[in-house]
Amino acid sequence: MSIASEIVKLHSELPSTVKLVAVSKFHPASAVMEAYNAGQRVFGENRPQELFAKAKELPADIEWHFIGHLQTNKLKMVLPFASIVESVDSLHLLEAIDRWGRDNSKVVDVLLELHVAAEETKQGFDADEIRSIMFSPEPFANIRFRGLMGMATLTSDEHVIEADFGRIVSLFDELSARIGDSPKLTADFNLRSFGMTHDYGIAVRMGANIVRIGTLIFGARPAKI
Ligand SMILES: *Cc1c(COP(=O)(O)O)cnc(C)c1O
Repeated sequence: MSIASEIVKLHSELPSTVKLVAVSKFHPASAVMEAYNAGQRVFGENRPQELFAKAKELPADIEWHFIGHLQTNKLKMVLPFASIVESVDSLHLLEAIDRWGRDNSKVVDVLLELHVAAEETKQGFDADEIRSIMFSPEPFANIRFRGLMGMATLTSDEHVIEADFGRIVSLFDELSARIGDSPKLTADFNLRSFGMTHDYGIAVRMGANIVRIGTLIFGARPAKI
């Protein structure tokens, strides 16, 4: 199927409460435009340089989500263009984003990435680290905490995927029940980003309201752009 027909199909199939992030990493601007012309406006990128290049070249009404590991020396390539950083995975990064926001008079939307997969290589906080960020005295005045993001173990075993997503949902519910207990935890904390090509069906069933889908839309990624 073409990129355009995959976009149309996903838009008709996903509940209207679920935002589709079309993950365009490693694919050329022309592929983004095919999806754009089929009505897609939200795209995900995981490399600063690539997001920067595409954001400058492509239509200004695209909403870019940064979904990869972000080094603090790359913030100025990403933060002026991204509407949200979904993949905040360290306190060091969070503090650097907050400083960038202060220096640029901006409040930056972020999701905290919860590490739930079996693979040690995957990024993210554990649940206690996220609790301690949300309830620490550090104000993070230039950060808006929008919710949680995560990636399940790479497996075809649905039970494992459900258990991984279940940990994201349960921390999200726990924090949502405490809205107002910290100035950082407001009604804006309402996003649950999980689910990719092979597991987005499970994710939607379990309450994701952002899914990040690449391969299904754009086909297999070339090794290098
Ligand atoms: C690449 C990527 C995706 C999309 O993965 P697909 O399997 O191609 O749908 C989603 N989330 C993150 C964080 C990614 O890096």
